[in-house]
Amino acid sequence: MQYQSTRNKKLSVSSAQAIKTGLSAEGGLFVPESIPSVSTAEIDAMTSMSYNERAYAILKRFLTDYSEEELLNCISNAYTKEKFETANIAPVYKLNGSQYFLELWHGPTCAFKDMALQILPHLLTTAMKKTNETDELIILVATSGDTGKAALEGFKDVAGTRIMVFYPSDGVSEIQKLQMITQEGSNVGVAAVNGNFDDAQNGVKKIFTDVSYNSVLENNNFKLSSANSINWGRLVPQIVYYFSAYADMVKGNEIKTGDKINVVVPTGNFGNILAAYYAKKMGLPVAKLICASNSNNVLTDFINTGVYNKNRKFYTTISPSMDILISSNLERFLYDISDRDDTLIESLMKQLNEKGSYEVNSTMKAKIADLFYAGYCDDDKTRKAIKACKEEFGYVIDPHTAVAKVVHDEYISKTGDITKTVIASTASPFKFNQSVLIALGGCETVAGKDEFALLDILSEKSGMPIPYSLAELKNKNRIFDLVCDKEQMQQVVSDFLNI
Ligand SMILES: *Cc1c(COP(=O)(O)O)cnc(C)c1O
Repeated sequence: MQYQSTRNKKLSVSSAQAIKTGLSAEGGLFVPESIPSVSTAEIDAMTSMSYNERAYAILKRFLTDYSEEELLNCISNAYTKEKFETANIAPVYKLNGSQYFLELWHGPTCAFKDMALQILPHLLTTAMKKTNETDELIILVATSGDTGKAALEGFKDVAGTRIMVFYPSDGVSEIQKLQMITQEGSNVGVAAVNGNFDDAQNGVKKIFTDVSYNSVLENNNFKLSSANSINWGRLVPQIVYYFSAYADMVKGNEIKTGDKINVVVPTGNFGNILAAYYAKKMGLPVAKLICASNSNNVLTDFINTGVYNKNRKFYTTISPSMDILISSNLERFLYDISDRDDTLIESLMKQLNEKGSYEVNSTMKAKIADLFYAGYCDDDKTRKAIKACKEEFGYVIDPHTAVAKVVHDEYISKTGDITKTVIASTASPFKFNQSVLIALGGCETVAGKDEFALLDILSEKSGMPIPYSLAELKNKNRIFDLVCDKEQMQQVVSDFLNI
């Protein structure tokens, strides 16, 4: 299987090259030249497989230049019972007759980014070996919270890599900050940047595009790389869990092989829901893909009208990982439904860059309407849904997952479609304990309490154990106290690398 770019169809690279390079030179994203298919019999066979065996069954169709041994190695290093605190890796929780939560947050950082970032470092280092690259990989990340910690956990102590994470000094939650500054590992660095997320992000971009600094790095046998969500190596592992959820539902006699399900995804960058779209295209029996947004509802409008317009107010919400106005993975979807029209994609992305908006043609609109339903919900409705879900079902969900639940409830009441539905549950409620506790019991519940008191209260209220990785933060040493200005970020990287 070769890969092409969404802005240059003629390009043909191996999956190892696509993963190593991340972004294509002309700015496009790498996509497989065709989408492999999986038969009903093969889906049926997955019912008796472990998560790791299912992962192999899917990944081998896309990463054809990786040997069986290489892939099995990557998979077994990523998905372990120790790291995920459950042998199932991504278990399905039945809420009621039509809603099933796919719990994607059992990994070391308690959010779904672990599903991809635990395996990406292994796919990446294997790609380096396969392409005879001898430089050490330096991963630079600017984070608004979830990605930084998930990348640190994924890359920690992975031979041939070092990782440096920058977070905005006043832009992350207390628990996210604690997760990062206590990070262990021989190859990790963390620094706070004075300013907001954009300052940190722009600082990292500047380092990436500084030609003379990159040649200094090269002379020291270092190569910069990023772990962001446009890398094919982050997307492909996400396809696996939709097959896995379906197989678990067949195994649990909730559906029969071949029955259609709906899938709901709380969406930001469009990565997770794109993986569900690819799963459907491969043959997973999915009827509707339901795209849920928070008040930053640029995707809701796009799916309903065909016009993408990022020129709008930006909201800071209680589901911060979806506070996004440019959904970069949408480009891969547009490429697919335009019958791989790279010229058109190039022009749409140029319009987005220059005017902040574009409109797709009527053929594409019709395809989108057929595949998707889209809706959004504000913070107030999100909090009410967290409370109602606890009161009705005794099950506590995080704000991102609650957005998905609200949109699906509205979908049912609008359409009457009660098809059994997988709702991607993207974070543990413990990770967003403050918002969850306010939703459950009002502001008094959290007043004057520190993070660890909040974890205890939430555990009591939900009847769920505190995830070990969060509980243990209390006893961890605070290793990284460095705070820098954005002009100093390059120097911080040099100090980290001893050059
Ligand atoms: C990143 C994230 C999302 C959004 O996923 P995309 O793939 O960017 O659409 C949703 N929920 C949580 C908790 C996340 O961390």
